[in-house]
Amino acid sequence: MGKQGQCLQTLAAGFERAGVGLHSGADVTVRVQPAAAAEGRYFIRLDQPDAPRLRANLTTVAETQLSTELAASGTQVRTVEHLLAALAASRVDCARIEIDGPEVPLLDGSAREWVEAIATVGLTEIAAAAPNPPLVVTEPVTVQAGDAFVIAMPAPETRFTYGIDFPYPAIGKQWQSWTPAQEDFATNIAPARTFGFADQIEQLRQAGLIAGGSLDNALVCDEHDWLNPPLRFANEPVRHKLLDLVGDISLLGRFPQAHILAYKASHRLHVQLARELQAREMVRSC
Ligand SMILES: [Zn+2]
Repeated sequence: MGKQGQCLQTLAAGFERAGVGLHSGADVTVRVQPAAAAEGRYFIRLDQPDAPRLRANLTTVAETQLSTELAASGTQVRTVEHLLAALAASRVDCARIEIDGPEVPLLDGSAREWVEAIATVGLTEIAAAAPNPPLVVTEPVTVQAGDAFVIAMPAPETRFTYGIDFPYPAIGKQWQSWTPAQEDFATNIAPARTFGFADQIEQLRQAGLIAGGSLDNALVCDEHDWLNPPLRFANEPVRHKLLDLVGDISLLGRFPQAHILAYKASHRLHVQLARELQAREMVRSC
């Protein structure tokens, strides 16, 4: 994402992907297009009357159970986090995201296709009327729920770290870091897929969730092992959690200069931390 005093970036051309939404099961087409500097990143529901717009920032976050949903003026878009992570990590500041349904397609459960599509069309710089202020975290900021937490620590550069601990032997304890200035998102983080647990699938389906989930777009494990190996990384689950964190934190409009460390956290805690940072006026929305 853009740094102070630099131009903002958008896509050099548009691209399109289609697929099934994880929770809705709806077939959806997404067309990601260049946008002007003042527009930031926004969704536009082409299937609804008057094509309502939804800015991708903290003011529109409505629901954070299992995925991140944006809602405003009577419309919503669900499961935005993988596409937003791909845009942010690829340094796309402004994009018009046309969508003809209620949920971003899950594709293969990762951000790989989004990142590859962005790399294929390339980026272009656009002049901004006013440069973005730097988003520097100057004191530790923590949010927690039970033994889960997310902390933003002052740091010389942006860095994300994630830790998980699941009572499934296939996962157990896993840690992963990503430093945008030093490590490639496309190869290290973007390919990590969504994961779930066989013993929770029926319960989630009955709750009207994961209608579009399958062994083709999510890693699933039972109490013994993975049902659909091979994994893309030995610690693919925690890399996916880091991908989700990057997408949720990007709702601030750019990455803060901080080390953001999440442990056993969730979309709800990721967004709560972003809101804390914004409320303390260390950062402001795009
Ligand atoms: Zn995810």
